[in-house]
Amino acid sequence: MHELLLRNARIIDPASGRDEVNDIAFADGRVADIGPGLEAGEVRDLSGHIVSPGLIDLHTHIYWGGTSLGVDPVAYAREAGATTLVDAGSAGAGNFHGFRAHVIEPSAPRIFAYLNISFAGIFGFSDEVMVGECGDFRLLEPEVCLEVAERHRDLIVGIKVRVGMAASEGRGVAPLDLALEVADELGLPVMCHLDHPPPSRLEVVSRLRPGDVMTHCFRPFPGAPARARDGAVREEIIAARERGVLFDIGHGAGSFGFVTAEAMLEAGFMPDCISSDVHTMSIRGPAYNLMVTLSKFLALGMPLNDVIAASSWGPARAIGKTELGTLEVGARGDATVMKLTSGEFSFMDVKGLERTSSEQLELEGMILDGRWWS
Ligand SMILES: [Zn+2]
Repeated sequence: MHELLLRNARIIDPASGRDEVNDIAFADGRVADIGPGLEAGEVRDLSGHIVSPGLIDLHTHIYWGGTSLGVDPVAYAREAGATTLVDAGSAGAGNFHGFRAHVIEPSAPRIFAYLNISFAGIFGFSDEVMVGECGDFRLLEPEVCLEVAERHRDLIVGIKVRVGMAASEGRGVAPLDLALEVADELGLPVMCHLDHPPPSRLEVVSRLRPGDVMTHCFRPFPGAPARARDGAVREEIIAARERGVLFDIGHGAGSFGFVTAEAMLEAGFMPDCISSDVHTMSIRGPAYNLMVTLSKFLALGMPLNDVIAASSWGPARAIGKTELGTLEVGARGDATVMKLTSGEFSFMDVKGLERTSSEQLELEGMILDGRWWS
């Protein structure tokens, strides 16, 4: 007798290659069994629904109240359909302990974090104030970053660095080099953001190691991974994928363009991870949330199973937490319940371009630690 049983759902688990209508049971916080004839205390009939692994939003900003760009993780997770949220460097060594105590520990959805190489984290990000945290070398102190990352190793999955004119104010790749040095010492990956050059895409991408994450990977010109004129994917991008660099969407307010995405998908270059980069300036559009971002990729023709892979197993591997992101028996009992609905839907990128679709994903509920959570 299990605790929770979901009946007649289409179970899609890219990690195991499973895509079938079946029953799935949860017990003791884990996936207990898949197959017909199971019994449980609570039974839900989910005919016509999709059950995927609990979705993981790899790029969020959820240091709510502690940073100007942070949104409330619990409210956000309920909208986004994500059972795991990964914060992308909102906090640095100077304020990570507050993030841990006031946000991460009390939160129901799982939260992991990339620690910002900058001591202050992303401290000046709003409509009124925009100051890049990597623009002042006095804030980039590798020793204290390393020390805090080691102290919070149970939560920290890598080092975040933002370079570009907005984030590092023309300091080139120096902040990235410091982040790589800390990450190398920790044996963890770097997640790197590039906004408006300098530094160039070539300087940034050529430095990334296997397992490092290039976020905002389908950004529009300049710094786009494909040439808009003919859709050609840049050589350094292809070389980076071949050596194992991971490509994450990080939609946000300025970092996802349909023209780039169409060129990349046309070339057969799918993202490893699809994430929202949700923050106070992207949550009311154009990113909204993970569920909407996933629907945009369906609208662009990316197959459903690949879209789910890029929001479950892909990010689980990127953060090295492979008991998440899968529905294998014994895995963590996290799942997302969705419906593929038909209609006329319209989506917008960060440039205000529109694409339409005849289907979109809609969230029905979530299972967290083996219990229904919605
Ligand atoms: Zn971000």
